[in-house]
Amino acid sequence: MPDDCLFCRIAEGKIPATIVFSNDEIVAFRDINPQAPTHILVIPRKHIPMVTDLEASDDPFVGRLIRTAATIARAEKIADRGFRLVLNCNREGGQTVFHLHAHLLGGRAMVWPPG
Ligand code: 5GP
Ligand code: ZN
Repeated sequence: MPDDCLFCRIAEGKIPATIVFSNDEIVAFRDINPQAPTHILVIPRKHIPMVTDLEASDDPFVGRLIRTAATIARAEKIADRGFRLVLNCNREGGQTVFHLHAHLLGGRAMVWPPG
């Protein structure tokens, strides 16, 4: 739990955020700069910097992370229309916070390809 990691601090409750889901291994909260009517970040409590740091032992957790995002999408009423789940990886992937997070975006039509 690096003290200098923003998302570790949010997960620990040391920095405020609008939490929409929390259990022993996952926290989800609203993005401070939303890019869609619904924009939620789904993160592990454990400090994993990015997708390329995942290990084989994390595989069951990754499944739970994705299914938790789907549960939140249903709760936010964006699942029927559709939504996007995004994992930015490293600098050219658009990652700015180096604690793994899935962006759950919905409430508007998405475009492809993404910018
Ligand atoms: P990335 O660019 O790393 O994929 O996404 C980081 C996200 O974290 C951005 O969408 C940004 O708006 C969001 N963010 C950055 N700082 C904060 C914060 O202090 N609180 C919340 N709730 N979101 C943040
Ligand atoms: Zn962290």
